[in-house]
Amino acid sequence: MAALLALILLILPAAAVAAPPNIVILFADDLGYGDLGVYGNPSIRTPNLDRMAFEGQKWTNFYVGASVCTPSRAALLTGRLPIRNGMMSAKNRVLFPDSLGGLPGDEVTIAEILKPLGYATEAIGKWHLGHLPQYLPTKQGFDTYFGIPYSNDMDKTPDAPKGPELWKHPKIEYFNVPLMRDERIVERPADQTTLARRYTEEAVRFIRQHKSERFFLYLAYSSPHVPLFRSPPFAGVSLRGRYGDVVEEIDWSVGRILDALRDEGLAGNTLVVFTSDNGPWLIFDEFGGSAGPLRGGKGSTWEGGMREPAIFWWPGKLRPGTVQDLGSTLDLLPTIAAITGAKVPADRILDGYDLSPALFGAGKSPRNEMFYWRGDKLFAVRLGRYKAHFYTRSGYRHRQATAHEPPLLFDLGVDPGEQWDVAAEHPDVIEKIRKLAEKHKASIRPVKDQLLERSPTALTSQAGISTKVIRLEAAN
Ligand code: MG
Repeated sequence: MAALLALILLILPAAAVAAPPNIVILFADDLGYGDLGVYGNPSIRTPNLDRMAFEGQKWTNFYVGASVCTPSRAALLTGRLPIRNGMMSAKNRVLFPDSLGGLPGDEVTIAEILKPLGYATEAIGKWHLGHLPQYLPTKQGFDTYFGIPYSNDMDKTPDAPKGPELWKHPKIEYFNVPLMRDERIVERPADQTTLARRYTEEAVRFIRQHKSERFFLYLAYSSPHVPLFRSPPFAGVSLRGRYGDVVEEIDWSVGRILDALRDEGLAGNTLVVFTSDNGPWLIFDEFGGSAGPLRGGKGSTWEGGMREPAIFWWPGKLRPGTVQDLGSTLDLLPTIAAITGAKVPADRILDGYDLSPALFGAGKSPRNEMFYWRGDKLFAVRLGRYKAHFYTRSGYRHRQATAHEPPLLFDLGVDPGEQWDVAAEHPDVIEKIRKLAEKHKASIRPVKDQLLERSPTALTSQAGISTKVIRLEAAN
């Protein structure tokens, strides 16, 4: 009997892998923990994401690997903290249009682990992991790419007004952001009012085109990052103003993609994950989002900067419900590897865990800690329900970090808003977290800072993204 059971247990995972599912990752930009209806927002309507959460799993302790765009994206695609591959640095927080670096070619992405299994792969939307030719998605395991190579607020033109006017009344021509297909610029400036719609059409086309194969779709929306653009049907529809309009258009997009999966009969064989790259950009007031009950936002290591809405959907496979276990975008690569049978790179440290037990209702998430890096410093560590801050600093504006000795300590179970320091009551917890932090820091090796080098000639001579070329293309 025991032998039979062992045999069954041996066969089960193999059977699961025999029909590996399609994978779809939907990644919003600067969407806060409190910005979806299903996460309690009273003004923004998100019926498609609400339904996705109802049919799937809503995670409430789910973290990104960094509180700003570039390092957070690197963490998701590689399962590694960006401090390990040079995608987080003390001087520059993200890549800029004149940056010379990018995600190193020897880093292994989710797309690259799935390619050997025969997956069709496409990246759509904001990349922000290097715009020079050697760093584009087509060099990181994606067959095709359609999107903008960095943030939608970059490449400001001389006509762009200074100050709040730019965010209150943004115009497409103020942001000379290129739209690319594969390695070529196809439009500049990108018509940002159409991006969410065109990303969606591209995604649905990709799904239909590859419905008889396995596919991996990575759709990184370039919104609701400021400047806030939406298509005409969504202008003025939300109680929450321009920001709400943009989130409601993302919700529409998610609905169309899930509909396409249902229509093609793929819902039972596709894992869809929706989350965001970092918390709300609070310095923009009503044009930024909300972290709901959490403290702080984008750029900071308070919970509002790095805890995100996260919805997993795979009808008939996942155990529906709310999951309070810890999870992270760092876990997506190992989880996808476990579900599909893909191989994870064995020659490097990964910072993720296989979340399958929690997804399939077989057990708890194996993640019990989270490391909150900012620049070259480990600012905070969560262990179980407790989080210790060794340093704090607001997301933007303040130039100095404040060191805390002893560290601030919050019980995130009773105090997710990080209001009441309980360090004095729990010296034992602080000691445990201190040891964990030291062990973790000892595992970090110095690497080349990919965000450091910038050159004014990058755009014209080396980037392949030349303003001159683009104007020629536009004229044709
Ligand atoms: Mg972002």
